[in-house]
Amino acid sequence: MSKGSVKRVVVIGTGGTIASRWQGTGYAAEAAGGEVLAGTALPDGVEVSVRDLFTVNSSQLTTAQQLELLRTVHEVLADPSVDGVVVTHGTDTMEESAFLLDLHHHDRRPVVFTGAQLPLDSVDGDAAGNLYDAMLTAATGRDIGVVIAFGGFVHAARGTLKAHTLDPRGAFADPSGQPLGRVKFGEIAWGQPRERAEVLPVPAVDGDAGRTPRVDVVMHHVDADPVLFEAALAAGAQGIVLVGTGAGNATPEFVAAVERAVAAGVLVAVSTRVAAGPVAPMYTGGGAVDLAAAGAVLSGTLRAGQARIAVLAALLTARCPQERAAALRRIVTPDAPDAPDATAAA
Ligand code: ASP
Repeated sequence: MSKGSVKRVVVIGTGGTIASRWQGTGYAAEAAGGEVLAGTALPDGVEVSVRDLFTVNSSQLTTAQQLELLRTVHEVLADPSVDGVVVTHGTDTMEESAFLLDLHHHDRRPVVFTGAQLPLDSVDGDAAGNLYDAMLTAATGRDIGVVIAFGGFVHAARGTLKAHTLDPRGAFADPSGQPLGRVKFGEIAWGQPRERAEVLPVPAVDGDAGRTPRVDVVMHHVDADPVLFEAALAAGAQGIVLVGTGAGNATPEFVAAVERAVAAGVLVAVSTRVAAGPVAPMYTGGGAVDLAAAGAVLSGTLRAGQARIAVLAALLTARCPQERAAALRRIVTPDAPDAPDATAAA
């Protein structure tokens, strides 16, 4: 970075393994952002300030906290002297928070999520390297939306998921796409830019967990019946992600359950258990063709966690069931803004 052009990056701490230490029986997040940053070199010409928001393992996050993070990032970016934002976050649900923020991100300046697979107190941990790469990406990246910098790669939030439970290098990947960039020796080699969905307004919902819509995930498998799907409806779900087999398939019983749910105003998305590739309307007899005809929205290449975030964002954005389904279609297929009904492709 050229001398004389100091870049200002704000690091927002939320916890995760990058802030975790041994508690006697296992690891848990406890370190403040300043402590996490203390072990990390700063990229040349970058000035950093820290804002601590939460100190939690990300498996414990709530929708209300994710919305608070969203609002905090917008608040930070309201300062024109800030060049970029880094969010330190647990890896378990990083793909969900990053995607939610990406759907609402309208700024040329990036928001860069990072974390660690190895706890803060490990001798050869990945925290310092990931944080360095994230700060570099935040200071220098433009028009990339919300990204995840991890293990030497920069991934677009959309489509990226936690791909390995423990490996630091292969922690995140987009099984259906390529990384946005590669970080090596303090430089970022950028690849192809990625399509982003139309930007959604920041939801007006307040931070009260009771006021955020319930969105459940139900998986299909051999012998599955819609009992858990119906249980989600009975629990008050306003949205459900059905994780189908193959290209997004289930059974005629699930199709009937989806039809009832949609008739009751519930937003249903279909994702798949398969690692890579899009959900596709190929099969009838309970397959994605019938699920789409019953009113479910096929979730493209989004997997369960991000499909759930897409449903949540559609529920928070639009009021009536038709508008919500249309909003969800636009979110899951950003390259087709007037997204046709999935069944049209059959
Ligand atoms: N359980 C941790 C979390 O998501 C895992 C991690 O950060 O790597 O908070």
